[in-house]
Amino acid sequence: MNSYLELQSVRKRFGNAAVLNGVHLDVAEGELVTLLGPSGCGKSTLLRCIAGLAVLDGGRIVLQGRDLGGLAPRERQVGMVFQSFALFPNLTAGENVEYGLRMRGESKRGRRRRAEELLALVDLEDKRDVYPHHLSGGQQQRIALARSLAVQPKLLLLDEPLSALDAQIRKNLRSEIRSIQQRLNMTTLFVTHDQEEALTMSDRVCIMNKGVIVQEGTPEQIYMTPRTEFAARFMGSYN
Ligand code: ADP
Ligand code: MG
Repeated sequence: MNSYLELQSVRKRFGNAAVLNGVHLDVAEGELVTLLGPSGCGKSTLLRCIAGLAVLDGGRIVLQGRDLGGLAPRERQVGMVFQSFALFPNLTAGENVEYGLRMRGESKRGRRRRAEELLALVDLEDKRDVYPHHLSGGQQQRIALARSLAVQPKLLLLDEPLSALDAQIRKNLRSEIRSIQQRLNMTTLFVTHDQEEALTMSDRVCIMNKGVIVQEGTPEQIYMTPRTEFAARFMGSYN
């Protein structure tokens, strides 16, 4: 397999606490890989390392053959969506989507056209001039997704984007995110602690515990044949 994204022995500590203990992962282009694990196992820290928001203590992260070490977040061409709605409250939905393009110095017309495409992609064309506090949680996350896609990232990182939403909205957004991801062939790392979400959305699932990946496989493999007691218990397939 020719890997699009490679994580090689990624390590991270905070003070005395080792949070990532040698994470290895290969992701193919267009794949959606889910990191599934309990709270505190290091999922967000791993995404933050990939995005350049935290510095590694060991290992390498390689995207399309390029070592990301030493590159600033903006140079990495990685988009990220967070659990809590992180839109700029003083900008409209459309301005939020345009934000990254403005930072890049794109013309107003170009920005406007791209924002319209993206608002259509997330089915919120009619919300362009609306401020975030007038949008529902689900709508805010769709705008956040559009904003992260605006700059055509090479890699999309989704850190529990659905966790703060109601059950029904969460289900709808699940399939919506998956269908957008597939349509764009966008290589994606999706983080969740929700087994059902992982099993229904992913090409591949990685179970994380204590800063390492303890098992990876297709949703079927993970569900049918958990390889460690931890995986089995975490997936709830025996008690
Ligand atoms: P997850 O996203 O899987 O819930 P995190 O990556 O957020 O886990 O956190 C993993 C561990 O690292 C936790 O014990 C957390 O308290 C610790 N941690 C995360 N960020 C920091 C930080 N900036 N400083 C110190 N400890 C941190
Ligand atoms: Mg987290």
